Amino acid sequence: MFALRETTDLDPARSSGGRVEVAFTDASIDLAGGDGFAAALAGLAEAIGVPVAWAHQVHGDGVVAVEHADDSGPEADGLVTAARGLALMVRVADCVPVVLADPGAGVVGVAHAGRRGVELDVVTRTVERMRELGAADLHAWVGPHICGRCYEVPATLRDEVAARVPATYAETSWGTPGLDLGAGVAAQLSAAGVAVTAVPGCTLEDDRFHSYRRDGAAAGRFAGLVWLS
Ligand SMILES: [Zn+2]
Repeated sequence: MFALRETTDLDPARSSGGRVEVAFTDASIDLAGGDGFAAALAGLAEAIGVPVAWAHQVHGDGVVAVEHADDSGPEADGLVTAARGLALMVRVADCVPVVLADPGAGVVGVAHAGRRGVELDVVTRTVERMRELGAADLHAWVGPHICGRCYEVPATLRDEVAARVPATYAETSWGTPGLDLGAGVAAQLSAAGVAVTAVPGCTLEDDRFHSYRRDGAAAGRFAGLVWLS
């Protein structure tokens, strides 16, 4: 079920103990909306042992602070919390899933950064909300997404996005205009003072992950998750 699971100890000097858990699911579970969603979500919550808060992602820059899991998620592309034992989930199929934590302060967040989210800088909006909750020393995991060698776009779109976020400028492996959303997100996080770990994997090339460009409208969604245990 998981392509990656990682545990980070909270800083004992700055907190009362506990851990930050980070996970990325794989294509063995489909978290797209629809009939199977409730069952998939319940299976995921059972696997990690905590309830899961999620959002209706709309390719915007809205960030919502949550304190418990809900049957109907808010409309947002970023979620933050300081609540223990509550996982935050971001769902993707080619877009960039970002999970964030300040282990010492005990604040976590997730962001959904597709092409629009990168243009709107949703990751920095998420960082700002986490700092309002007391986060200071932030670390981000940039999860599997479609890479810049695979994500072909029209030349005008590449120019438009790269004018705002220069690090996104890319060329596909077949020599046409591309966008590197992961590089754009990493640059935005670095500018916001956040340390970045890149989780390897191109969703289009690696069938361990769901991919919209590869699988079309029926593509499933995999997830990035973070929680305080
Ligand atoms: Zn690729």
